[in-house]
Amino acid sequence: MQLHTARLCLDCQEVHEAGACPVCGSESFAFITRWIPAPERRLTARAERAPNDVDTYRQLLAADGASPKTHQWLKRGAVVAAAVTVAGWLFRPAPKKAPMARGPANATPPREPERQS
Ligand SMILES: [Zn+2]
Repeated sequence: MQLHTARLCLDCQEVHEAGACPVCGSESFAFITRWIPAPERRLTARAERAPNDVDTYRQLLAADGASPKTHQWLKRGAVVAAAVTVAGWLFRPAPKKAPMARGPANATPPREPERQS
């Protein structure tokens, strides 16, 4: 029986940990920790685990610390790619009119206006 679950029957002073007293069946009880404080068992277990936890947290923090730099470089790369694309659109050569640019061989002679008689 653990101290933090131990109950004192208020009718027959039996110590138990059930919902009702196993001796007299009374449901009135008080936790023993009311008079005897019981420290949490988890505190000591966590203290033993603390160095590993600290290392884990350091690794997590280091990983988080590295990610903003990566995000910065990704952002810069995206900005540069967008700028190059926009510059390419802005400074691209003007579209040529294909039939006229190829030369006089393919050029169609200008039409003479039809004469009406
Ligand atoms: Zn009892």
